Amino acid sequence: KSGFVSIIGRPNVGKSTLLNNLLGQKVAITSDKAQTTRTKIHGVLTGEDYQIVFIDTPGIHKPKHKLGEAMVKAAKSSTLDVDVILFITDISQPVGRGDQFILEGLQKVKTPVVLVANKIDQTVEKDAKERIAQLTQLFPFKDVIAISALQGVNTQGLVKLILEFF
Ligand code: GDP
Ligand code: MG
Repeated sequence: KSGFVSIIGRPNVGKSTLLNNLLGQKVAITSDKAQTTRTKIHGVLTGEDYQIVFIDTPGIHKPKHKLGEAMVKAAKSSTLDVDVILFITDISQPVGRGDQFILEGLQKVKTPVVLVANKIDQTVEKDAKERIAQLTQLFPFKDVIAISALQGVNTQGLVKLILEFF
């Protein structure tokens, strides 16, 4: 099995931490560099019987830069021609405008989107459940998974989940 995955979310939700956890510390993460229109490959995770290519989706994770315009462009461009989009959020924080903004922009996207609720190590279970319920009201996620990218909690479960979309 092989396929393409993009990881999006507001700054500081743990995108780089997740990639580092999955791909190993040696991989250079370039997601925080200036926005470009090129597709960037973050890294490739190769397992015994699978290969997952993580790519960047410019224009979606930088809501400050003319989101609407960039979103439409990105949605139409090949950068969104992935098998699954991981929408990562920091579930230790209340659901805010940053997340809402990105999810609004994703409404017209045909690619399946999975909600990745990160930082569960820092979150009371009751809060996590409430926030996940709020988010699933905002967007028709294909699936939901709670993880700690930092501690590696359920990151292998996430890999399994990704493979279901290939
Ligand atoms: P990015 O901007 O989305 O790439 O976010 P980073 O990966 O740079 O993470 C932002 C901050 O959140 C860093 O200080 C990370 O150590 C921290 N962080 C990321 N994932 C987790 C997690 O699962 N649990 C906790 N407690 N902190 C995390
Ligand atoms: Mg980052």
